[in-house]
Amino acid sequence: MSYKNRDWLYLKYVTEELSLGDIAAEIGVCPQTISYWLKKYGIPTRTVSEASWTPSFLKKARPRIDVSFRNRGWLFQKYIIEERSLAAISQECRVPLRTIAAWLKYFAIPIRDYSSSQQTENCRKIKSEKLSKERSARWNGGRKIACGGYILLARKDHPHADSCGYVMEHRLVMESLLGRYLNPSEVVHHIDGNVTNNSPENLMLFQSPRDHRIHHAGMLREGVIDVEIYLGE
Ligand SMILES: [Zn+2]
Repeated sequence: MSYKNRDWLYLKYVTEELSLGDIAAEIGVCPQTISYWLKKYGIPTRTVSEASWTPSFLKKARPRIDVSFRNRGWLFQKYIIEERSLAAISQECRVPLRTIAAWLKYFAIPIRDYSSSQQTENCRKIKSEKLSKERSARWNGGRKIACGGYILLARKDHPHADSCGYVMEHRLVMESLLGRYLNPSEVVHHIDGNVTNNSPENLMLFQSPRDHRIHHAGMLREGVIDVEIYLGE
């Protein structure tokens, strides 16, 4: 059944912005059923204020809310790279804070703890300048390709460097983003399945190999990826 398919539901509810009622009517089930499956797949449901801005109400010439936060790349850029706060992003998009929090969770973008989100604008600037300096200074080092195509960089002083002093580049990129070393049990996943694409927006962090496997199994089941990609990162 189409409404039990995650991608189909996502297309109808998020991309096409149909309401629960519209989707339910289209396939002849009750809205509660659609609500159940949205929840099951972790697709954030719209708040009443958001729902009132759906296209059917545009005729009333109300200002449309900015729904950029439903795009992972956009949210990643704002929250991780620009280090904007949850409050600042929700203000910019004119949606409740919990809506932004729900989408961060949905895209597996780690939410900062309270103390780091309390940093002043000034601290934030100093920190990101320092990080980018470190990044450019440290990223010119020895580079080699490991088996499986992973890019390795020479980091002799890194606590988790291998016996030859190398660290996987995708893990270093995630560490730069988080501002801390990764725990060896944490797994960095390549969203597009290309292990040489270590650009920040292509990386997703999982707390354990188990969480990572569950994510891959889900993609495999839903036909998002094929077995070959399933076996890689
Ligand atoms: Zn993966």
